[in-house]
Amino acid sequence: MKGIVLSYHSHNVFGAGYENNDHVAFSRDLELITAAGGEIISLMSLVARIRRYQAGERSDNDEKIYVALTFDDGPVFDYKDFIHPVHGYQRSFYNEMMKFRAEHDTNIQPGLSATSFVIASPSARQAMARSPECGYTFLDEDWLGDDWWENASKTGMISIGNHSLDHVHPVVPSVVLSSEIRGSFHEVATYADANAQIRDASALISKKTNGLSVPLFAFPYGHYNDYLVKEYLPDHIDEHGLAAAFSADGRYITDQDNLWCLPRFICGLHWKSPEDLNGILNG
Ligand SMILES: [Zn+2]
Repeated sequence: MKGIVLSYHSHNVFGAGYENNDHVAFSRDLELITAAGGEIISLMSLVARIRRYQAGERSDNDEKIYVALTFDDGPVFDYKDFIHPVHGYQRSFYNEMMKFRAEHDTNIQPGLSATSFVIASPSARQAMARSPECGYTFLDEDWLGDDWWENASKTGMISIGNHSLDHVHPVVPSVVLSSEIRGSFHEVATYADANAQIRDASALISKKTNGLSVPLFAFPYGHYNDYLVKEYLPDHIDEHGLAAAFSADGRYITDQDNLWCLPRFICGLHWKSPEDLNGILNG
């Protein structure tokens, strides 16, 4: 089995090309993955497949490429189209998937769906939304709001995942962390900090989505440490309720990988062109 998890950021809009606009890349990539013979499945289905694989179950489809799609940070642009004042109309990732659905037979990519990893804390999201550093102060809209989460998940095309309480982001004044260092999830290395950033974040996201379970976590900045991966996540499943966690390590998932630190490829970092992605898919 070859497992590939791809990550996109819907706020990465710096032009109209594949290399500088994740919406353009995402649209093209759905076709590229399909042409390369990749089967898009939900991230949870991929996790279930890895679990079965690690338990020794092999299937006839061992040579198949399974691809799961993920979005990070939870801008409303994952779900709703918007107009960028410089770069114009942008079709949301959700509507790119709907467009693909409308243009292809139902037997092409029947499992097409994605997971949006969102930031739980409303005050942290407000601080980021208003920060010039995060790039969207020109929008009146609350572009990191949470009112789209439940509707998006009801479509069956988007699952909402956990991307921490506050991303330990430098522009957030009230980061919940015992360390003074900001901008590094490596610092989340105690039970209390992990509970706040991971367990409490899942609970808050679940509350905002009418009780949906939130079984998947993506490490902010792709940062992790031994405490999280080897102790907190595997030893406290009853408390945080997670099934897997994802880094940004830029490699394939193999049957040897730790479920609490599964790698992802990041658009714009690990691939910048259709040729790059083809290389990943066929490599
Ligand atoms: Zn992030």
